[in-house]
Amino acid sequence: MQPTNDRDVLLVVDIQNDFCPGGALAVPGGDEIVPVVNRLAHGFAHVVLTQDWHPPGHSSFASAHPGKAPFDSVEMPYGAQILWPDHCVQGTPGAAFHPGLDIPHAELIVRKGFRRAIDSYSAFQENDRKTPTGLTSYLRERGFERVTLCGLATDFCVLYSALDARAAGFATTVVIDACRGLDVGGSIARALEEMRKAEIKLI
Ligand SMILES: [Zn+2]
Repeated sequence: MQPTNDRDVLLVVDIQNDFCPGGALAVPGGDEIVPVVNRLAHGFAHVVLTQDWHPPGHSSFASAHPGKAPFDSVEMPYGAQILWPDHCVQGTPGAAFHPGLDIPHAELIVRKGFRRAIDSYSAFQENDRKTPTGLTSYLRERGFERVTLCGLATDFCVLYSALDARAAGFATTVVIDACRGLDVGGSIARALEEMRKAEIKLI
């Protein structure tokens, strides 16, 4: 890994209790990456954390759609949306960061998914692909040129965040050992392929 400087930022995606074993939407092995991510983060002068942060009754929850079950798909005004178990509800213990996450020098926490009608996998743009979170402007204004990503889940929030970082013009790297995925119907393999095609460096 290259030495980092003021042009590099690490984006740590959604390492929250609900995405770890025992949580509402557990990613298999999600907690295993915590020490790896801590080590990685201590090599970066600049770190940004993201936090999935839904109001109760969020439209991405299966419970908000009568007759639907988690992992069913529905058509939203912005396209297909997978439905999830209720997770990362604002202010609940499930929405808190994993207690082992030790990155006190993180400079920003980006919360996403707080609009009831739109889900947000990406830290940059919500799932309608047009509502920005503000992160692109923040990173540009700070003068960052390279974004390295890790976290949960490889095939959803890490994937979409990495694609958007690349599309915004940042040199983009994903540290695969510091990610875990949900793998819904082969989605991890598809995610890796999609990232490679977008010229995202996988290490
Ligand atoms: Zn969510």
